[in-house]
Amino acid sequence: MTETVLILGGTREAATLARRLVDAHPDWRVVTSLAGRTAEPAPIAGEIRTGGFGGIAGLADFLRRERITRMIDATHPYARQISANAAEAAALAGVKLDVHTRPPWDRQPGDDWREVASEADAAAAIPPGARVFLALGSQHLAPFEARRDVHFIVRMIDPPASPLPLASHTIVTGKPGPAAEEERVLRDHAITCIVCRNSGGDGAYGKIEAARTIGIPVIMIARPA
Ligand code: NAP
Repeated sequence: MTETVLILGGTREAATLARRLVDAHPDWRVVTSLAGRTAEPAPIAGEIRTGGFGGIAGLADFLRRERITRMIDATHPYARQISANAAEAAALAGVKLDVHTRPPWDRQPGDDWREVASEADAAAAIPPGARVFLALGSQHLAPFEARRDVHFIVRMIDPPASPLPLASHTIVTGKPGPAAEEERVLRDHAITCIVCRNSGGDGAYGKIEAARTIGIPVIMIARPA
């Protein structure tokens, strides 16, 4: 049976899935939805649509209008709002929903992880005077504003549209790389601590391996329930 599939994307796994579905089912219509946060997203097989749907009602309307037969939530494990909206909209529109969530990373021998529940807890857990590699999106920086004793090295895919709310910081533009590249970034900036999320997957794991090699702690923000 031919299907019209909507993939909620924004992750490498979503792009891989789109490629796989397009190759395996040339008669299916495969549409990947992106939030539009990244100026130049990597190429994706099939169709792409960009931007928010306008909440649950907007997504349910889209499902009906485009006659979507199956929705796959392959968004990032910390993208809570869109996943919650997808569950509600699928029920409203009577569309099948599959959820593809990456498993989290497991702590390995030599890892010094300090697990915290929130960004605010992560900010409080940073050792005084640290040089911190902050691997979070620009919309998650406000809780770190009060740590005026800390120098932040903030990595972003695109340069920020407005000044960051951090007193002392350096911006490094680029994507996560393999462990050797991440180790170079950590050493070049004399980083003493990393703050990140337990995203899982291979793409962002290089910094975790590099932290283990260098022997610096990782303040790990737990996954949302
Ligand atoms: P979020 O807080 O869960 O979503 C906020 C709003 O952005 C949603 O209500 C929706 O707007 C829109 N949105 C999010 N994902 C969308 C998608 N795939 N297609 C269309 N609209 C989308 O999401 P977020 O944490 O800001 O993440 C945004 C996107 O970046 C996600 O697609 C995610 O997979 C990707 N991403 C996130 C992270 C992260 O750390 N959170 C990391 C890497 C990639 P409407 O309500 O108007 O529909």
